[in-house]
Amino acid sequence: MFLLDLADACRGSGLRVLEVDGWRTRGHGRMSGVRTVVCHHTAGPPTGEAPSLNFIRDRGLAQLVLGRSGTVHVVAAGLCWHAGVVHDPSTGNAWAIGIEAEATGTAAWPTVQYDAYARLCAALVGHYRLTVARVLGHKEVAAPTGRKIDPNFDMAAFRALVTEHLEDDMFTPEDRAKLNSLASRADVGFARDQIMTHLGKDPTAGPVPPAGREGLEVARRVDVGFALEQIMARLDAIEARLPEPDPVDEQL
Ligand SMILES: [Zn+2]
Repeated sequence: MFLLDLADACRGSGLRVLEVDGWRTRGHGRMSGVRTVVCHHTAGPPTGEAPSLNFIRDRGLAQLVLGRSGTVHVVAAGLCWHAGVVHDPSTGNAWAIGIEAEATGTAAWPTVQYDAYARLCAALVGHYRLTVARVLGHKEVAAPTGRKIDPNFDMAAFRALVTEHLEDDMFTPEDRAKLNSLASRADVGFARDQIMTHLGKDPTAGPVPPAGREGLEVARRVDVGFALEQIMARLDAIEARLPEPDPVDEQL
């Protein structure tokens, strides 16, 4: 597949997005799908918005280039050669969007660029229905371990920032207040329907969960991705405060 929706997906970040001429047909053939976002740095020159852009474009080395200003350059919709040999095929070129962020790999990252990197990843996670755990650094996926060092920031901290932006994208403050209110009443079945609706899924498509503990179990089995995981984590905390179910009546 060619990711003809990639520019739109990037625009979901709210960042400035520039479409590089020919991006829709650029790549080394088709991708198999999108299961992973692999983050890189270019190890390029120390100044300039995106001095590595043409090199990456001409060799088909990444779908996206993130400039120092936080501008996203959409380079290719097809398969790109960025990951190389990987431990897990689902993190390889056929299944991974590669982002090359313009950076020396040694200098500090401009705050605006680092934050934009996380916003871009959050937009891709939301658009392609991934989880934040699927945002990985080249240094994490490359085999053998230690073959790559990019990007030169802590990926756990980066994913935490991606999570923050994803929540920002997914829930307005009003939504958040409503969901917290629902959770506080342990009205889990209804909360789950709200989440499903929020994610654009038909809440009536699956079995309608009853409220309470049973609904919680149903919600756990429904893979609606990151948002649900977040809600479930909150509900776990609520559940810990719920009274135990009534004991079985032992009267004969
Ligand atoms: Zn890399």
